[in-house]
Amino acid sequence: QCVAVCPTGALVERDATWDVLSALADPTKTVIVQTAPAVRVALGEEFGYAPGTSVTGKMVSSLRKLGFDRVFDTDFAADLTIMEEASELLDRLTRHLNGDTSVKLPILTSCCPAWVKFFEHNFNDLLDVPSTAKSPMQMFSAVAKNVFAKELNVDRKDLIVVSVMPCLAKKYEAGREEFSKDGDFDTDIVLSTRELARLIKQANINFNILKDEEFDNPLGESTGAGVIFGRTGGVIEAALRTAADWYTGKSLENIDYEAVRGFEGVRSADVKVGDLDLKIGIAHGLGEARKLLEEVREGKSMYHAIEIMACKGGCIGGGGQPYHHGNTSILRKRTEAIKIEDESKAIRKSHENPYIKKLYNEYFKEPMSHQAHELLHTKYFKKHKI
Ligand code: SF4
Repeated sequence: QCVAVCPTGALVERDATWDVLSALADPTKTVIVQTAPAVRVALGEEFGYAPGTSVTGKMVSSLRKLGFDRVFDTDFAADLTIMEEASELLDRLTRHLNGDTSVKLPILTSCCPAWVKFFEHNFNDLLDVPSTAKSPMQMFSAVAKNVFAKELNVDRKDLIVVSVMPCLAKKYEAGREEFSKDGDFDTDIVLSTRELARLIKQANINFNILKDEEFDNPLGESTGAGVIFGRTGGVIEAALRTAADWYTGKSLENIDYEAVRGFEGVRSADVKVGDLDLKIGIAHGLGEARKLLEEVREGKSMYHAIEIMACKGGCIGGGGQPYHHGNTSILRKRTEAIKIEDESKAIRKSHENPYIKKLYNEYFKEPMSHQAHELLHTKYFKKHKI
């Protein structure tokens, strides 16, 4: 068994390629796959492409060749995450501005399971501060098992959800009890980017000559806002794009929030949303996050919202990606590839994704509805200090 150690949290990688092959070989199962935003800008490095080469179309094509019944995109669920997280941000902000002293600010993003585990252990007096929105991977899997399975007329236990992630902590996240129903986990198997590359090579698929293919729908359609989840500052920028439109009631054209971008470990950005002057904090790396959290604990935080990702550069630098050996120029090139993907999208705001609109019309009705809370939100647990 192949093991590797996660550089961010001493989590151990268990090779899940055999689990995937077993699922694909089982005729009683429908096997679908989702791919995280950061995977497409790093997978090519395993096949000789220069860092910063986006191989989205070839990745989709190779997954189809491996035999997945549907090839979907976690970016779709990143858009879904923004619907809930931007609603929560605006809800807390407006209540705070109206003098509701019970409201907790800043709101903290909650997409990164290594960071979630870190605060459950070390800042468990602040469990009501982070957004309760599940991560995009877990939102995708909840929708797949509870909504999409019914559309396919498949029992949720016969629908296998495989996630390809840049991350080793996602393997741990998938196994958290709260993400299961009657013993059936929403996410069945998590593969790292490196494991996917291994599977493609073992299957003798000539990756480099593959033609570009598109994701399947409905869970494969995404916007530029979904793509930028892959780099530091991206989650909060995607939330701002939606929150600003909702708050002003306009479709704003200036959606490039340059102030939240960058590579410094801790960043502070002043952002105007309508008549609101927001202060946004961004940290990548848990040492940096600790500084911001100490301020929140002491009641000294000046921020309205904080994005925290455990890995340097965000998910593009995740522990499951092709090794970059600390070479930040590789991380910067992957970040640039994410930017190009974002700018090439016809739609760059999550709330304008037509399939997201359809999902709300037909199922969730509106963000933070009862149905949305049941499938798209989670809770956090007090754990012993480490
Ligand atoms: Fe995983 Fe790192 Fe991304 Fe967190 S920042 S979700 S640990 S890859």
